[in-house]
Amino acid sequence: MTSSQPHTDSYYAATANDNTEYPPLVGEQHADVCVVGAGFTGISTALHLAERGYNVHVVEASKVGWGASGRNGGQMIGGISGEERIAAAHRADVEDMLWEMRWAGHEIIRERVARYGISCDLKAGYLDVAIKKRHLAAFRAEFDRLQRHDFPLS
Ligand SMILES: Cc1cc2nc3c(=O)[nH]c(=O)nc-3n(C[C@H](O)[C@H](O)[C@H](O)COP(=O)(O)OP(=O)(O)OC[C@H]3O[C@@H](n4cnc5c(N)ncnc54)[C@H](O)[C@@H]3O)c2cc1C
Repeated sequence: MTSSQPHTDSYYAATANDNTEYPPLVGEQHADVCVVGAGFTGISTALHLAERGYNVHVVEASKVGWGASGRNGGQMIGGISGEERIAAAHRADVEDMLWEMRWAGHEIIRERVARYGISCDLKAGYLDVAIKKRHLAAFRAEFDRLQRHDFPLS
């Protein structure tokens, strides 16, 4: 860490069960891999590597979860930003891979919460709502996609 500013005010910051502080980077350090940034991306990458036996160091400018990862809605949602555009630019099997990735991430979260005993009040389920008529087209496209993949709809 180079500095440790408090998290931005949010429900999650106010109710966090764990508020870790780490020492600043001093002098020369050696590692197999150095990850820059301790958000979801950096921490998940570091953990994946550490679980495989690599000596990983994470360098963060402020605090673990200080960026978008500590300011978001905290929902375990399905879908990847830009998914449709990515799929359209590639072969059909890329769409299938993106579909698998949607749910693989959920599984990783569940597995890690259990394995590391993370006290985070994990709950499944979320609701997407259209608040403008023009939002409906995206919902129809998503509904078609869910049907194409035999997603259980009730
Ligand atoms: C308002 C909002 C709501 C959201 N809601 C959801 C949701 O409900 N569900 C969901 O799945 N996703 C949601 N997201 C998206 C999700 O939060 C992001 O996709 C995710 O947090 C990105 O994680 P990240 O690790 O890539 O980036 P970040 O969390 O931003 O982490 C980057 C880190 O790198 C550090 N850093 C940057 N530059 C350097 C440097 N040079 N040296 C050292 N450290 C550096 C920063 O301080 C920061 O801590 C939401 C996003 C926002 C903004």
